[in-house]
Amino acid sequence: MSQLIVMKFGGTSMGSADRIRVAASITAGQAAKTPVAIVVSAMSKVTDLLLDTLRHAENGDRETVDKNVAALRDRHEAAARELLEGPNAVLEEIGAITAEFERIAQGILLLGDRPPRSVDEAIAVGERLTALMIAAYLTEKGTPAQAVNAAHAVVTDSVFGNATPVMEPTRAKSQALMAPLLAAGVVPVMTGFNGATAAGKPTTLGRGGSDFSASILAASLDAAELWIWTDVDGIMTADPRLVKDAKVLDEVTYAEAAELAYNGAKVLHPRTLAPLVEKKIPVWSKNSFRLDAPGTRIVPSLEEAPGARAVTSMANVALVSVEPVAGAISGTRVMARALDALDIVNAEVLTFSSSSYRQSFCFLVRKDELPVVLKSLQEALALEFEHGYVKPIDVNENVGLLAVVGEGMRGVAGLAGRVFTAVSREGISIIAIAQGSSELTINLVVAREGLERAVQAIHAECGLGA
Ligand code: ASP
Ligand code: MG
Repeated sequence: MSQLIVMKFGGTSMGSADRIRVAASITAGQAAKTPVAIVVSAMSKVTDLLLDTLRHAENGDRETVDKNVAALRDRHEAAARELLEGPNAVLEEIGAITAEFERIAQGILLLGDRPPRSVDEAIAVGERLTALMIAAYLTEKGTPAQAVNAAHAVVTDSVFGNATPVMEPTRAKSQALMAPLLAAGVVPVMTGFNGATAAGKPTTLGRGGSDFSASILAASLDAAELWIWTDVDGIMTADPRLVKDAKVLDEVTYAEAAELAYNGAKVLHPRTLAPLVEKKIPVWSKNSFRLDAPGTRIVPSLEEAPGARAVTSMANVALVSVEPVAGAISGTRVMARALDALDIVNAEVLTFSSSSYRQSFCFLVRKDELPVVLKSLQEALALEFEHGYVKPIDVNENVGLLAVVGEGMRGVAGLAGRVFTAVSREGISIIAIAQGSSELTINLVVAREGLERAVQAIHAECGLGA
């Protein structure tokens, strides 16, 4: 299947009948030239609506549940009517899929509890609905296509809400399902975001996980390329809303793209590139609103790309500091307990920094994860707090993270100095610093009010602009 192109269309690209038409015409155009498989997200905002509905169900709010289910059904029925000449079979399926969601929501209402595995089963309906609609539309317009529920193709572990694929069985299942379709000239349309455990329990890959689904599929089917369609021109040197002369990068490496994604660039789900590394499958990030824009090509390595490539930032973060009392206890043990506590609640550490004196350390987490993180830390270190071995946890919510990324920074003396100087010239003080030994990224934690100016200053200092 060396000619196969896997394409992924996100929520905006699926957001209305008009957008679905564009996605279908891109798919059909390519399918006329090479085999194609596509992966789709739910319509924009639908996953939020589904999650919100289940929260209301847990709280016993039947009225909102009913209202949201009706909104879900109406939005998809309206899109299907607008899209299809013969919508009846699809309307019936939309009814059946939304009824499935409603049944789970009713169960949660009765239970007053929201078990993660039921949530995962319920929230994949957004993707099932779009896969159904675009497959029907493609077929109607002369490009035979078939919706495939990723629960039957992507095998994952059982970390509900943030599952990880198990590649060997995924490869076997997705090939068994999709190779016959491709051989018959049918475009497989796989749902993004979801999968199932080996025992068949539905899972999801985490918010924004459809990119990841697409790369899992591309790797499983040995695709020639993966094209990720979004609503921006590609990967940029900075967020164009913050930096006027930010420019689109023609090429970045897997490692650079992953770092940018982990550090807040919205263009790609951070875990997307991992499945592709081994087979060196190139990825294009392209804009479905501007088909003539070339996009960014993400490749295993670049011949030459000196210095920094891009700077990203994240605002909704909190810095958590833990300080063992001098000499009372092993600092390493406290660190290990703390990281374990973060892992238990599935929280992501955005950056981590420690000082040797008294082995105090600090790390950055997303603000919305802060309450569960603090609770988990309190539990994990309960004894240490009780005996006064560890000082009360200090939390600073008034911070922002920025990251300067580039493989070409490796071994370039003076680059970090220039970055720090640029930030300090603006009168912004740096609260924490981290640079891994890969020298791929420099992370700075700065006061929140200086974040945007720091990004601008670094972008200018490193000459990243157009
Ligand atoms: N629909 C899912 C979400 O909103 C997955 C995705 O869009 O990538 O998180
Ligand atoms: Mg996305």
